[in-house]
Amino acid sequence: MSSETASLLNGKALAQKIQGELKTTVETLQGKIGRPPGLAVIMVGDNPASAVYVRNKEKACAKVGIASFGRHLPTETPQEEVEALIQQLNEDKRVDGILVQLPLPPHLDTVKLLHAIAPEKDADGLHPMNLGHLIRGEAGLRSCTPAGVMRLLEEYNLDVAGKHAVVVGRSILVGKPLALMLLEKNATVSIAHSRTPDLGEMTRQGDIIIAAVGKPNLITGEMVKPGCVAIDVGINRIITEEGASKLVGDFEFNSVSQVSGYITPVPGGVGPMTVAMLLQNTVLSYQSYDGES
Ligand code: NAD
Repeated sequence: MSSETASLLNGKALAQKIQGELKTTVETLQGKIGRPPGLAVIMVGDNPASAVYVRNKEKACAKVGIASFGRHLPTETPQEEVEALIQQLNEDKRVDGILVQLPLPPHLDTVKLLHAIAPEKDADGLHPMNLGHLIRGEAGLRSCTPAGVMRLLEEYNLDVAGKHAVVVGRSILVGKPLALMLLEKNATVSIAHSRTPDLGEMTRQGDIIIAAVGKPNLITGEMVKPGCVAIDVGINRIITEEGASKLVGDFEFNSVSQVSGYITPVPGGVGPMTVAMLLQNTVLSYQSYDGES
């Protein structure tokens, strides 16, 4: 039995609050703009996890009044066809945000497709132009998962300025943009990754530890500082000793929650925040709609 001491950072509740605010914004703007905001999620192939994510995104869109222009293409769709679809959506005035659900089948060039999205419709914030704005500290569409982490910290008044933040993972999707966002808010940032020789030695220094690796129970209670903030981005499906399928993060929840001051649950922590930030990016693009494509 765990004697949990950490406070939970409830991403699910915050995501619902943000969605409620976005719904009001959409209702207010719709009369002026003359149409609802639109998000196009492009999925290629039949990855079952991706199908669940896409369905969740479209359901969330419906709740806030965003129209979905999703396209599901067969696995063997050639690169040129996906590029042509993106081009068509770039020019479609009803569409404010475009998202290519990753991972893509191996014959497709992911980077080339992400580059094809018009930067002002880049709802996932992964276009080099938007990543460039982030590195320069300029306004722009921010990557959804790291933006969701920052918003969650802000909601709980967990000021990062002057704190030592240890980011575990250096992907372009999560670790790298998150490190830049923490730096922008004046944290002292360290990044650990697969070649870091002693992970525990690094994580024990963190006032805030963000794990974005994809390895169940990688970080245990002995690896964290008492009272720290533990943010779990990892999503791992495991089979329990009883044979049940379960989602867990990269932190070993039972041991870490006895040492840390705050922790995000998996599920119900960062995951719902990612979806909320996707909707927020779409509404931001909608707000700056000027009637041109
Ligand atoms: P990725 O595979 O691209 O990157 C994993 C990173 O972990 C790499 O940078 C690697 O260097 C690092 N790493 C691997 N082994 C390590 C080790 N032993 N010690 C320290 N670092 C190590 O993955 P990603 O796309 O960044 O996703 C990471 C996790 O976050 C996955 O579980 C993914 O499902 C999850 N994820 C969740 C959300 C969400 O909304 N909650 C969004 C995106 C990704």
